[in-house]
Amino acid sequence: MQVITRDFFLYLSKNKALNRAAQNWGGNIAAGKIVGGLNFPSSIKFIKELNEEGLSVTVDHLGEFVTSTSVAKERTEECIKTIEMIAAEGLDSQVSVKMTSLGLDIDEKLVYENMTRILDTAEKLKIMVTIDMEDEVRCQKTLDIFKDFKQRYTYISTVLQAYLYRTENDLNELNQFKPFLRLVKGAYKESPNVAFPDKADVDENYKKLIKTQLLSGIYTAIATHDDAMIEYTKQLAKDHNILPNQFEFQMLYGMRTATQKKLVKDGYKMRVYVPYGNDWYGYFMRRLAERPANIAFALKGMTKK
Ligand code: FAD
Repeated sequence: MQVITRDFFLYLSKNKALNRAAQNWGGNIAAGKIVGGLNFPSSIKFIKELNEEGLSVTVDHLGEFVTSTSVAKERTEECIKTIEMIAAEGLDSQVSVKMTSLGLDIDEKLVYENMTRILDTAEKLKIMVTIDMEDEVRCQKTLDIFKDFKQRYTYISTVLQAYLYRTENDLNELNQFKPFLRLVKGAYKESPNVAFPDKADVDENYKKLIKTQLLSGIYTAIATHDDAMIEYTKQLAKDHNILPNQFEFQMLYGMRTATQKKLVKDGYKMRVYVPYGNDWYGYFMRRLAERPANIAFALKGMTKK
């Protein structure tokens, strides 16, 4: 049953007509729940509050699988303006960006142009830009883009997904660049030809990646809401004298808020992923696929005045 629910929401997450309807409807389904605000300026106050509580942030302008050059350019402008505002406001925040929002499905040259502009600004203002990892068919291209830019820019990182068979090799290959990486389990619907179908195997692989990365001494983000993975990381750090300033935990905004604060209180660095914008549909459906219990608080969000 759980698999059916997950597959259903992941199927819906890619439905273009529903995505368009959601944007036109304009309802901020998750306002105050899992989305920071409808635009970046309206999210600033709220990011400051998170910072005051000791939580670092990464912001993501919602929107993916863009098929129009002009929209990809708008997304680029938005990303640049966001980086400038983060610096001007002195926020403790990074930026996350999806390559399909910058035009990966249109023309790779366009992505390179857009990313160059974003990274020029980020480099100047010393704001880290993380390339989110999307579905497996786009993984190689995304890693190629990352590797290319990583040789010229410092303020760039990306994400590796534990559910993919290929990830262990990718990690070893990427480590020659000593990159800041975010490790996640993976959020998309993938075929068993490319990804572990069993959760237990994903968890084992996730632990393996965490171990490789933490023992390598490269600063790493462990992005999970799973207590078992958090405890594993803490114990590993303790056993190998890895200091808390060599890694950070990351969680999505709205998920496990009390645990986020507890980690900060216990001396760990905690970064919250705060999405903003009205293109919330795909993001939201993936969250429902991960945890149908999210439906309950989503419904509260829909009726919230
Ligand atoms: P799961 O395996 O989903 O859950 C394990 C256990 O954790 C559950 O059984 C439950 O006990 C507990 N748990 C999980 N969620 C909750 C909750 N909300 N409340 C209470 N308990 C809970 N995926 C990508 O593919 N690409 C990305 O670029 C990407 N970036 C991400 C960035 C961040 C900061 C985070 C946190 C996740 C990101 N993800 C990304 C999503 C990720 O891949 C997973 O789909 C998502 O985090 C769910 O997996 P999990 O490790 O949290 O735990």
